[in-house]
Amino acid sequence: MNIIANGDAHARARKLIALAGPEQFSAADQPSSVAWLAAHLETCAACRTVAENIAGTIHGLCAIPIAAERSLVSTTQMRVRRRALELRRHRERVWLVSISCSVVTLCALLSTAALWRGFAWLGARAQLASSVWQLGFLVFCVMPALVAAILLLAKDTHLADHTGSYQG
Ligand SMILES: [Zn+2]
Repeated sequence: MNIIANGDAHARARKLIALAGPEQFSAADQPSSVAWLAAHLETCAACRTVAENIAGTIHGLCAIPIAAERSLVSTTQMRVRRRALELRRHRERVWLVSISCSVVTLCALLSTAALWRGFAWLGARAQLASSVWQLGFLVFCVMPALVAAILLLAKDTHLADHTGSYQG
């Protein structure tokens, strides 16, 4: 009778150990079972060993994947954040470039229209043939690009000379 009761007690203890982890003990609304198991583990070395083994196994199983997951998660988060930042910067750059292009185009159109009117007015004032002031307008419009091209060419030749003299 006593042996059967003891066997039941061990079975009950091992069932409780298997069903409830340490965190589930506190969550489980069975303080009597918890207290009973604690009391049983105090007196029963075999069940205590079982409980320790299970706790060790659970701890070992939890520790390995969590460590791997943490590094993986942090790496992935870092990459995702970096990519998001890159994309945001790229969008900002594209937006800035498109805004600049629009502003420059608008300014060029407005100034060209104003220049055309100015040349027309000057041509009329000086009583020039329309082809003459139109040619002047064309030269005036092309001049900045020409000057810039000449300056760039000069800079390139200067740089080439400079590096050439360094090498020579
Ligand atoms: Zn026991």
